[in-house]
Amino acid sequence: MNFSIDQVSFAQKRVLIRVDFNVPLNEAREVTDDTRIRAALPTIKKVLNDGGAAILMSHLGRPKGADPELSMKHIAPKIAELLGVKVHVAPDCIGDDALAVTNSMNFGEVALLENLRFHKEETAGDEFFAGQLAEHGDVWINDAFGTAHRAHASTAVIARFFPHDKYLGYVMENEIFNVNKVLHGSEKPVLAIVGGAKVSSKIVILEQLISKVDHVLIGGGMAYTFIKAQGGNVGNSLVEDEHLGDALSIIKAAEDAGVKIHLPIDTKVADAFANDANTGVSSTGQIEEGWMGLDIGPKSIEYYSEVIQSCKTILWNGPMGVFEMSSFETGTKAVAQALVEATKNGAFTLIGGGDSVAAINKYGFADDVSYVSTGGGAMLEYLEGKVLPGIAAVAEE
Ligand code: AMP
Repeated sequence: MNFSIDQVSFAQKRVLIRVDFNVPLNEAREVTDDTRIRAALPTIKKVLNDGGAAILMSHLGRPKGADPELSMKHIAPKIAELLGVKVHVAPDCIGDDALAVTNSMNFGEVALLENLRFHKEETAGDEFFAGQLAEHGDVWINDAFGTAHRAHASTAVIARFFPHDKYLGYVMENEIFNVNKVLHGSEKPVLAIVGGAKVSSKIVILEQLISKVDHVLIGGGMAYTFIKAQGGNVGNSLVEDEHLGDALSIIKAAEDAGVKIHLPIDTKVADAFANDANTGVSSTGQIEEGWMGLDIGPKSIEYYSEVIQSCKTILWNGPMGVFEMSSFETGTKAVAQALVEATKNGAFTLIGGGDSVAAINKYGFADDVSYVSTGGGAMLEYLEGKVLPGIAAVAEE
């Protein structure tokens, strides 16, 4: 098993690459965000430059059986445009017609297999199906970080057909390298900013992070469970009463570990979950009935920005408020801006998992932070300390 494809030559090899081309399409079936395709280009180019053939496979959406709307053929023009080469499109991902395409292509060329999830065997992790996919290549590269937390046929099971010819591509390598930079041996002080709707989805991550960071900034809806657990009034804010005990345990574990957990000092409150609701600012723990906290308040923004500037390694996961509504995006935008500032001043900043990635993109700051993860759920599971099947499958002897 090799960790970097840098040390491998793919000359004269048919290289089957699992990519994550699950990209958004508009009604005309055009790609509206090509981030994931661009992310995969270095691996594909490496194979082509070595003189190999690149056979790309991915899922697109959640089809139930073959669905022309979710055909990979809609993606092919974008790949061709970005790579500057012709893309052969296979009519299926397995079977004679698909093999006819990949067997007749030349080295230096690219082929795209049809949507893997047109076959239910893909998500079932069916071994026979994985074997059929494996017929396309001499070598398998897994470069789909976005699905690395799934033990599907193309992401994990297929590895057993390439015991000596399986690799992680550059997307995978970068994701692992960058997140490990935060989790292990990073420059101190290390800060984790954790937000989002619910504390329940972040408990394991918080538990894991406490042994690795110096500060935790908490924002978003999950802050109110912490505030209520400490005896504060949170009005009609989002609270998970069944997790009040978990919030207290996390605070206690942080204290024991010498980690500082910061909660918002003040809150932007609203009288309804709506952009045009009446709004005001309440001190933390003093939110009146009939009002709900939908963003961190101005004092918290100032304070959180100072903490961010004082840290050298920073992970951000989850928005500070309901940033999809302009009335409640100020905190999230300010944190994004503070991260850009910190990056300029030499901090390593990683944006990982779901909505904080959406936020950094919304504000156009993706190029102004150190690293933006391409995998939502996969990044969350990695942060939770789980073994990702898509990585383990390559690592296993
Ligand atoms: P998550 O997927 O857990 O990271 O949560 C992201 C979602 O949390 C976003 O859609 C936000 O709108 C939502 N969110 C953030 N802050 C709040 C809040 N104070 N109340 C309700 N929802 C929130």
